[in-house]
Amino acid sequence: MHVTFHGVRGSTPCHGPLTAKYGGNTACVSIRVDGQRPLLLDLGTGLRYFGKEYSASTSTPIDAVALVTHMHWDHIQGLPFFAPIIRDDAHLEIYGPKQDNGRSFFDAVTSAIRQPTFPVELHDLRGKFDFHDVENDSFMVDDFHVMSRTVPHNGPTVGYRIEIGGKSVAYISDHQQPLDGSFALPNGVRELAEDVDLLIHDSQYTSSEFAGKSNWGHCTAEFAAQIGLACRAKSVALFHHDPDRTDAELDATPICSSGSGFRVFVAREGATVSL
Ligand SMILES: [Zn+2]
Ligand SMILES: [Zn+2]
Repeated sequence: MHVTFHGVRGSTPCHGPLTAKYGGNTACVSIRVDGQRPLLLDLGTGLRYFGKEYSASTSTPIDAVALVTHMHWDHIQGLPFFAPIIRDDAHLEIYGPKQDNGRSFFDAVTSAIRQPTFPVELHDLRGKFDFHDVENDSFMVDDFHVMSRTVPHNGPTVGYRIEIGGKSVAYISDHQQPLDGSFALPNGVRELAEDVDLLIHDSQYTSSEFAGKSNWGHCTAEFAAQIGLACRAKSVALFHHDPDRTDAELDATPICSSGSGFRVFVAREGATVSL
């Protein structure tokens, strides 16, 4: 299983020499396993670069599956710029959280990609789309076992656990830490992260920033690492970096490790973790 980070930022893309090392694209991670369709975790601006790599590697039409956590811009903005989908024989299956008042995820996406905020509509992208709503579910995607659980954030949001061939990844990109700054853990998050090989987790704020933005839907790197420890994850990728976080600051992130081999590292655009 090869897990590649195509975008590791939260909130909005950023650019320039201060963020060039870890990258400025927003949330998009791919999971590649031989014989399976590519799995995409979120469709932020990093998706455009996954698309360029895909098109450079093959002329086969794309047939991929996206697991989307929620509707915020930083998680869907790459979709209309995903070049491989702009052909009639392309196919993208998209899972995302059911919206408030029974509204479907499909309805939310088609409402976001349209005039006047974008020049064309989703169906103008030519490829075939299939949408699925998820809440607290377990389902198969090809040979992947996938679990979705609702995660505290702003608006309907889920996280995912993906398992195949005895390897597992949990993806919890945006997670509201308890407002008091404590490390209390919802049961659904525990189910997603328990004993995984890799936990990819929100780490947007420093402790001092969190004090001033405690209800903005995110958490600290310490909270992410603590979840990894509490759930006996083998490793934690700190993810969804604040757009103001510089490379120097990320380099200086305290990296925890223990005698048991538990590892915490900073997710970087272009990096691949093989499990
Ligand atoms: Zn986000
Ligand atoms: Zn969000």
